Amino acid sequence: MLGVAAGDADIDDAEPRRHLTRQAVVAWGSRSVTVGGDAPVRVQSMTNTDTTDVVGTAIQVKELAQAGSELVRLTVNTDEAAAAVPRIREQLDRMGVDVPLVGDFHYNGHLLLTRHPECAQALSKYRINPGNVGKGDKKDRQFAQMIEVAARWNRPVRIGVNWGSLDQELLASLMDANAALARPRDARQVMYEALIRSALESARRAEELGLPGHQILLSCKVSAVRDLVAVYRELARRCDYALHLGLTEAGMGTRGTVASAAALSILLQEGIGDTIRVSLTPQPGEARTQEVVVALEILQALGLRTFTPSVTACPGCGRTTSSVFQELARDIDAHLRERMPSWRREFPGVEGLRVAVMGCIVNGPGESRHADIGISLPGTGEQPAAPVYVDGEKRHTLRGEDIAAQFIALVDDYIRRRWGVRAEAQL
Ligand code: SF4
Repeated sequence: MLGVAAGDADIDDAEPRRHLTRQAVVAWGSRSVTVGGDAPVRVQSMTNTDTTDVVGTAIQVKELAQAGSELVRLTVNTDEAAAAVPRIREQLDRMGVDVPLVGDFHYNGHLLLTRHPECAQALSKYRINPGNVGKGDKKDRQFAQMIEVAARWNRPVRIGVNWGSLDQELLASLMDANAALARPRDARQVMYEALIRSALESARRAEELGLPGHQILLSCKVSAVRDLVAVYRELARRCDYALHLGLTEAGMGTRGTVASAAALSILLQEGIGDTIRVSLTPQPGEARTQEVVVALEILQALGLRTFTPSVTACPGCGRTTSSVFQELARDIDAHLRERMPSWRREFPGVEGLRVAVMGCIVNGPGESRHADIGISLPGTGEQPAAPVYVDGEKRHTLRGEDIAAQFIALVDDYIRRRWGVRAEAQL
């Protein structure tokens, strides 16, 4: 028997079939962001400023929006914060930033949304955590108050369950019911069920209160990758509400980035997820926008959306003893990111550009030919010349001390020729 079988059919590389959900519109002024259904997977972020700091919060919202966040969430936790929200909105409007704002409510959302109608109006969407709405008979009443405000202002609501603040009454009743079974289920399974049920029962109640189903989004956040995948697979199987994905408290730096990418990629590849957020704890001095950068990179790596040109660079090895190619890869990447805001307007489609920066002859020419424009730098012991491939053909050979500047000029020229013509033709 052979250990290797011949393949006689196409290998399946189809895009994942999207788990079809209802579509909500999150709007502010003339800007409307569709979420769910066949809309692209949207990127969301959250500020970490004090919401009462109107200017500081507006500046951070602008930075997050410029980085690519399509919805920005704010903490609304006090009367002062609720009163600040319309002023933040006005400040953003003055700055020409039309990104929709989402209000994050816990414990007192029913009071804040009813006492501050300007806040309710300035927000384009509300996030309600059913575990933090109230206890006992207050829970239903306070939840209803918030849903009635959302229905009155025609605002979508995300019912955001989090295992750190799971509805304890629901969890306790499921635990009791489980304990009474002849063969009780694992406690983890009961926790999954509690998360899912909390979201679904709250959504059903919201619909009964008059909020249309397409205005409801759900999330069930946990902090471990396998738990998140298990919960969302089941949630997607049981409903067609739009789903917001995120690994809560993902952590810092590489660990948080990798954990978020692992969790979200599995689900997105299965067609599950309509909006995403990467909940990174910023490292000291790190920009808040890093969580947006990671979210965009996840979607782009999966081929779901394209935001910035891609730079393929080899990792380097013993054949590259100088740092020239590392510096060139870094400089090219920085150049493309820096120019993208204006290029996006001047050269529509430029985000699809593929650049290769390779370290030697082993994979350099091959990888460079696959890119739109690629350079193969000389490895140790090779001739001090760098061939440049354009649209798969060798077109130039660069030499000298300023290879990086020469190559960047060739990339700029390529962009102008390829996308500038199309832009002019569309005028
Ligand atoms: S392309 Fe060359 S330098 Fe880069 S990893 Fe491969 S062998 Fe090493």
